[in-house]
Amino acid sequence: MSDVEVVENVENRPSNFIRQIIDEDLASGKHNNVQTRFPPEPNGYLHIGHAKSICLNFGLAKDYQGLCNLRFDDTNPTKEDVEYVDSIKQDVEWLGFKWAGEPRYASDYFDQLYAYALELIHKGLAYVDELSPEEMREYRGTLTEAGKNSPYRDRPIEENLALFEKMKNGEIEEGKMSLRAKIDMASPFMVMRDPVIYRIKFATHHQTGDKWCIYPMYDFTHCISDAIERITHSLCTLEFQDNRRLYDWVLENISIERPLPHQYEFSRLNLEYTLTSKRKLLKLVEDKIVDGWNDPRMPTISGLRRRGYTPASLREFCRRIGVTKQDNVVEFSALESCIRDDLNVNAPRAMAVINPLRVVIENFGEDEKLIAPNHPNREELGSRQVTFSKEIYIDQEDFREEANKKYKRLVLGKEVRLRNAYVIKAERVEKDENGNITTLYCTYDPETLGKNPADGRKVKGVIHWVSATDNAPAEFRIYDKLFTVANPGAAEDINEVINPNSLVIKHGFVETNLVSAKPEQAYQFEREGYYCADSKDSTPEHLVFNLTVSLKEGF
Ligand code: ATP
Ligand code: MG
Repeated sequence: MSDVEVVENVENRPSNFIRQIIDEDLASGKHNNVQTRFPPEPNGYLHIGHAKSICLNFGLAKDYQGLCNLRFDDTNPTKEDVEYVDSIKQDVEWLGFKWAGEPRYASDYFDQLYAYALELIHKGLAYVDELSPEEMREYRGTLTEAGKNSPYRDRPIEENLALFEKMKNGEIEEGKMSLRAKIDMASPFMVMRDPVIYRIKFATHHQTGDKWCIYPMYDFTHCISDAIERITHSLCTLEFQDNRRLYDWVLENISIERPLPHQYEFSRLNLEYTLTSKRKLLKLVEDKIVDGWNDPRMPTISGLRRRGYTPASLREFCRRIGVTKQDNVVEFSALESCIRDDLNVNAPRAMAVINPLRVVIENFGEDEKLIAPNHPNREELGSRQVTFSKEIYIDQEDFREEANKKYKRLVLGKEVRLRNAYVIKAERVEKDENGNITTLYCTYDPETLGKNPADGRKVKGVIHWVSATDNAPAEFRIYDKLFTVANPGAAEDINEVINPNSLVIKHGFVETNLVSAKPEQAYQFEREGYYCADSKDSTPEHLVFNLTVSLKEGF
């Protein structure tokens, strides 16, 4: 129903420093095309931070008529899994982007990477080291102190070749040897102090099986993969700023086709009340703090999707936050406004009663079918029938026995309008032995369907309702932020900052039309909030609705 998207206006797309660089590169003839890539490691599900990188990389390719590759950066088989590969593909497509050709894998290049490692050894630019990981740390030095050369640093080239061969053939134990680039143990950039470029790992790889027992490190792999794929602008987050030295060093020292790709860094997305680290999100899943990677409270793309966020709302969020080199933390409300703006325009309206109070309209007779518009200002979204009956439910919050003038809902002896229906008057209540109201008795004014009372009585309040005889029972999952602190990433023990009320479950009723609600299709439950049917647990027999976002800011 909702195929009108938040307007993604080209004119109003903010320029950024990366666009300026691309414009210059195209103008000067340094490049005549734009080729980017999105390079996730398949060690978890994508989160909202990745959405920023996806929108940037795929967005640039789209705007400059270029291409963007999807490349799995799969050099660490022990942490990776095809489940993650599949979810990543699904999330990128769902966000609305298309990668060029087939998905690529860094592991596709293992043979070439191995050959380039041999080239470095031949050139005297790489050596097999036998320092243990602890010794290596000691030899590395500190930010204020130069490192020391490994005693194995000046082995003859032939010996390096022979040992690297043995590493590859599985003849050396894990941790006993590694291949290191021979750069500068006194460099002010720690990444340049003879970084390890290959390590031994007896692990089965999800793509290459047991073919390899040595695996290349990220810094060696990434730049070469970029060059092989003829990437023009390789975009990553600021933590890789220093690694750019190594990126350039590797490419300059191997015989790979020119022009070489260039790495540019932008600031990562940090969002209040949100973890944006796959490792930390994995822990929430493993510790069963949440119901899997796509729990609607998770900041994963699949969690936001299950929660009712639309692809357009996430793209709009990425557009609004922009791309800079400044570190900052985005307020959570910025994300919520994007989905609210989308759903305000696109979500059909419906009625749901979350805390039901039974109401009997004493002077009403047979059931009546009333017509309710699906959207207050979009006629093209049509209308639907809702049953009005002698017994209805209203929300407990919408009735008080006594109240002052500020309370614009139903009060004993006073009137209120029922949305899309009549004006009713509260006559009396029935209570149980504990004093709780069990039934509210009302009368209705038959002359008020779609019009004000004829005698000029003013009825200010409007409340929503659901027929008590023609409805569908529903479970409502009302979510709040998962953490009690704005920066959960800084917490020593994550369990200490979990919001115990991040999920509250209520049972009520929705209009019968919602039995066919499709998962992820959001509705505005009038006066309650935006909700969508849960893709995992909702069935026509047992409807489950997730709160996507409240109607007004109040997070
Ligand atoms: P995580 O710490 O969650 O594992 P990562 O950077 O290790 O993140 P990758 O799979 O390597 O995850 O990331 C793929 C791409 O997404 C990289 O280019 C990375 O820079 C980018 N990215 C990851 N997190 C963010 C973020 N919070 N904001 C913007 N870009 C991000
Ligand atoms: Mg990573």
